[in-house]
Amino acid sequence: GLFAGIGGASRKGILVKGGNYLEALKDIDTVVFDKTGTLTKGVFRVQKIIAENQEQVLELAAYGESFSSHPIARSILEAYGKPIDKNRIIECEELSGHGIRAMIDQHEVLLGNALLMNAHDITAEEIPSAGTAVYVGIDGKLAGCIVIADEVKESSAEAIAALRQVGVKRTVMLSGDRMAAVEAVKDQLKLDEVYGELLPQNKVEKVEELLASLPDTGKLAFVGDGINDAPVIARADIGFAMGGIGSDAAIEAADVVLMKDDPLAISEAIVISRKTKAILW
Ligand code: ADP
Ligand code: MG
Repeated sequence: GLFAGIGGASRKGILVKGGNYLEALKDIDTVVFDKTGTLTKGVFRVQKIIAENQEQVLELAAYGESFSSHPIARSILEAYGKPIDKNRIIECEELSGHGIRAMIDQHEVLLGNALLMNAHDITAEEIPSAGTAVYVGIDGKLAGCIVIADEVKESSAEAIAALRQVGVKRTVMLSGDRMAAVEAVKDQLKLDEVYGELLPQNKVEKVEELLASLPDTGKLAFVGDGINDAPVIARADIGFAMGGIGSDAAIEAADVVLMKDDPLAISEAIVISRKTKAILW
């Protein structure tokens, strides 16, 4: 029974790391998702560059992002489209949930969200577009903003509806992205609750709050792609990692690994868990 359940799940690309997790899946009350790469494709495209000197802003941004594996970085490097001369990068540091700080030629470059700009006393004006805003600070001043956009995965809306159908009470999304981008995804997917502008440690705190408000027998699942969210995956009752695009740290921290990166697999896993229980007891 139990082994058939794990085997059945693995044939669907759902790798459950133990019988206890397979059993716990049937009691999921709350499913918390990461946004980027989990409910959205994580494939960003540069929509526009708001700057006086667009060329300089894009070039320094591309140089700053050239060591990053974040989906935002890929989109900026693609828009730049030229080779990177690594000798020009004197220093470069990725600040989880914020962005990048780098020294390129003689310029101090900051790339990332409003939080990062504020931390360096740069005022980041709210931009009207719904996309993700990557602010570019050069030598202590705001030089521009690169607006990039991602899209929801084809199966995400169906995945949320399917969770409701199998009895999940609360669907939640956490993101480090700004609220305008987060609210747009909430409306498209009909999620119950969304929280934006969260740092990785704020995501852990939010999951702890949600864990505290679970009903007695209910379990909380977190689903992430692992870029910055391995600690949250570890903290949830059941941590799911997108295995295809997920980082090694996330796959390590996870209780269930989804080989197809498809959010529909969460409700499928719950159904398999219930069937397995029916066979066993
Ligand atoms: P999410 O919570 O949506 O998965 P992350 O936690 O990976 O997003 O990142 C949160 C925010 O931090 C991003 O929306 C972006 O504003 C900023 N950020 C993170 N990494 C980078 C980067 N390499 N370049 C620019 N901005 C970044
Ligand atoms: Mg993420």
